[in-house]
Amino acid sequence: MYRLQVRPYIPSPLYCVRCQLFGHIALKCTREPKCVCGKTPQGGKPCETPYKCVNCEDTHSARDPKCSKYLQEVAIQKVKITEKLSYAEAKRKVIINTPIPGLSYAQSMQSPTKWAMKPRIIKELIPQLTQVVNQIMKEFVNK
Ligand SMILES: [Zn+2]
Ligand SMILES: [Zn+2]
Ligand SMILES: [Zn+2]
Repeated sequence: MYRLQVRPYIPSPLYCVRCQLFGHIALKCTREPKCVCGKTPQGGKPCETPYKCVNCEDTHSARDPKCSKYLQEVAIQKVKITEKLSYAEAKRKVIINTPIPGLSYAQSMQSPTKWAMKPRIIKELIPQLTQVVNQIMKEFVNK
């Protein structure tokens, strides 16, 4: 008998157009609205300020697929679906499995979420994130 390797369907991370953060949609947003320039929106007028990502402080829109925060969310999403975890559990797992440059393991373990969510740190995590995702997907396939 054959067993088909079914690749789980991984939807894109939830993205909120109101506050530019990930993990929820605008309908459920309870945060301060934010413009793509990182500031408070100016009453529906088109924004003329250059983009500033609220998630990593880089000069792109928060929806840019090259954004390290976006990549981190994709990783969380993959873990969430493949391991059937809640969003919060998956997020913790991704953060714990991503070594943070310049921090010892012990340091980063003291408060993994605090460190890994700092915009400047997120930016340096891109190569590690890709590795974490590959590792998690491999473990999943081998199960
Ligand atoms: Zn929101
Ligand atoms: Zn703006
Ligand atoms: Zn960004």
